[in-house]
Amino acid sequence: MENPTSTIDVSFLNYIKERSYKESLHIEGGIPDYAFATDYALRQKLKAIPGIYSFFKAVTSQIVPERKQKLNMNSLKVGPSQYPEIYDMTKDCARILGIGIPTVFIEHDLSVMNAYALAWEDSEPVVILTSSLVERCTPMELKAIIGHECGHIHNNHGIYNVASEILISNTLGRISFPQQVAMLLSSSITFALQAWSRAAEVTCDRAGIICCGDSAPTIRVHGKLASGAMINGVSINIDELTNQYETFRNTPVRLMELYSTHPVSVRRILAAKEFIHSEVYYDWHPEQKQPGQNLYSKQELDSRCDKFVSVLKSEKKD
Ligand SMILES: [Zn+2]
Repeated sequence: MENPTSTIDVSFLNYIKERSYKESLHIEGGIPDYAFATDYALRQKLKAIPGIYSFFKAVTSQIVPERKQKLNMNSLKVGPSQYPEIYDMTKDCARILGIGIPTVFIEHDLSVMNAYALAWEDSEPVVILTSSLVERCTPMELKAIIGHECGHIHNNHGIYNVASEILISNTLGRISFPQQVAMLLSSSITFALQAWSRAAEVTCDRAGIICCGDSAPTIRVHGKLASGAMINGVSINIDELTNQYETFRNTPVRLMELYSTHPVSVRRILAAKEFIHSEVYYDWHPEQKQPGQNLYSKQELDSRCDKFVSVLKSEKKD
């Protein structure tokens, strides 16, 4: 019987060659070509705050190692023979973006649909999916989510992302320590971290769309996140959901979002719809290109997305 792996190229050199080729194709000035410009600009501002990096590093290195041990103890580690479908989609996302394969854990939490990445330069990247999310998403939706989390790794969101998960999103909030540390942050630093985090989410939604080769799964996920589930199997009408956005667009209520690390679902849906009409998307998926398509340049894409995502500008969709 023929060895089934005999046709697979397992040469490490070829892997490196292919990976560096991909990186050089899609990396501009040290950052991925699809990264939302506001993400980079706000991250530079964050980095410029004196002492912020060492503060975040001290907090994360205190909490994350313990967190990882708990994951190993209490959660399911995805692998080739444990949820192989999820492992394969993770492998595929990592291959497309040109990063190492992160370790994925499924965490027992039926109360909230959530996913997050713990990754920075000193630490092996880990992606966590709650059981509620795994249960309620289709395979393509899960791939969009895993691609999104791989986007955090690909864009070196690293310590800032982990800090916002710990200190603000309260993802790791079962530990009381983060809340006490969060109180030490001045409100201007908290605002800066939250504003950056919202922009970083747009970048990573784009990574998920690239990994799926389609924006529909990402858009459906945001619909599900808005409602918390697929209730009674009824699929969400995305157009109705975007119309709902019009009702708060010009009201002061929207300013509450300034306190959030994630843009509201509708803004993310609008930004995802823009991305699929951009040159940069088709640079990743030239096979989908149709003759005569009118595509946004990267600059046009980012300024259009900025209008949707920015809480203060909050312009009308067209
Ligand atoms: Zn994210």
